[in-house]
Amino acid sequence: MKDILTAPFLMELVRTCTNMYDHGWDERNGGNISVLLDEGEVSEYLDRGSVLRRIPTGFSAPELEGKLFLVTGTGKYFKNVRYDPGLNLGILRLADGGQTAELLWGFTDGGKFTSEFPAHMMSHETRLSVDPASRVVMHCHPNNLLAMTYVHELDEKAFTRTLWQMETECIIVFPEGVNVLPWMVCGTNEIGQATAEKMKTARLVVWAQHGIYGAGRDLDETFGLIETAEKAAEVYLKIAHLPWKQTLTVENLHEIEKRFGVKAREGWLD
Ligand SMILES: [Zn+2]
Repeated sequence: MKDILTAPFLMELVRTCTNMYDHGWDERNGGNISVLLDEGEVSEYLDRGSVLRRIPTGFSAPELEGKLFLVTGTGKYFKNVRYDPGLNLGILRLADGGQTAELLWGFTDGGKFTSEFPAHMMSHETRLSVDPASRVVMHCHPNNLLAMTYVHELDEKAFTRTLWQMETECIIVFPEGVNVLPWMVCGTNEIGQATAEKMKTARLVVWAQHGIYGAGRDLDETFGLIETAEKAAEVYLKIAHLPWKQTLTVENLHEIEKRFGVKAREGWLD
């Protein structure tokens, strides 16, 4: 077996956690990430028959039966992941229709997966049904998006339109827009189901007064989605209280669509 600390999928997650912490998106134990792993790749580093612990999940996800996930741990700090990946991260396989997580590696202090595990797994289920190449679900607390949910109406179309107008690239990066979940208590199956429902039509779901969920095919895509939306929110907050002399018009956004071959969400540019 190769040393798992040299596995590209693990090194990439460690780098991403560090980068997110450095962006200020993951204070204290804020934020969590889960990555669907390729079984063949994992078998170079782990004996998949050796289960360290069996942990009840409290939900079912039959579509994810037998799938392997690399997940951040509950109560763990992103800033510490790079110093001890085996303590702060774990590799799990879902069994019993998703009701049990079999720990294959990590959480060396007896810890377990993030408290947002239901939202992550339900979101994976949904995104895989939309895009079979989807692999990553990421949650964090970016300052400007979070602030925007206090001062901007939460209507998804209006929220998206504002973000699209703040930077030319936005509509190219997330043409499907962002969905917005009104405030709910976090860590529950209910917010997990609500998030997964919102993931049917967009890879970005804003949690009002909390943060954001992103989903994508790899860590770069998912990070980039959040990064782009967060930058747009930052521009919005810089100018929201100033008199606007001009902005990107609906016609401009249509021109970007045409030039870059992207299609904005049906009806959201009317
Ligand atoms: Zn959070």
